[in-house]
Amino acid sequence: MPELKRIYWTRTGLRLAYLGVMLWLVSAALLSLTSNMQPGAAPRPSSSSGVGVVREVVSDMFDGVLAAIMAPGLFAVALVIVAAVVNARDTRRRDPVRRFTRQQRREGMARANGLCEMEAGLRRRCSRPAEHGDHFYPWSKGGSTSLQNFVAACARCNRAKGARIPTPGQQERLERRRRDYLAPSASVSVGERQPLP
Ligand SMILES: [Zn+2]
Repeated sequence: MPELKRIYWTRTGLRLAYLGVMLWLVSAALLSLTSNMQPGAAPRPSSSSGVGVVREVVSDMFDGVLAAIMAPGLFAVALVIVAAVVNARDTRRRDPVRRFTRQQRREGMARANGLCEMEAGLRRRCSRPAEHGDHFYPWSKGGSTSLQNFVAACARCNRAKGARIPTPGQQERLERRRRDYLAPSASVSVGERQPLP
């Protein structure tokens, strides 16, 4: 799956950007609040009643915070929209068939000698008896229900992986490990994504 690198890093980048914008937003709000609370900061000589002064101070504070979070807020909204578009496209890509056929399971399991192909500790092959056929590129994100996207997995690895997109490193290592146990004629490449309909 040659485009995995691009997909993985785009999404990781989006997540990091969102985290950064949120930090920016919170720190901008806090900064504006603390600068407002400094003694002697813009004391407005106006209304005589105490309630009126409090109301003015609060409204100034509110305006200040609103102005301070305007820029990060707009960025956050833009990122949320991008994420929504990405999710909608993933959903449109979904393979109408989710379950692997009996034939695919048989071939996929035989290819892996019935053992889990996932990564256990120290980036070694897990090798517990495989119980599941797992979509390497997650079905929910548009992964194909194909032999190309089939990975034999034990229950524990299957659960641990969930619907996460594998890292490019995990893909590379799986393909490298497969060279050791797949027939020389078989393709070691893993992962397939459905085209947009
Ligand atoms: Zn396993």
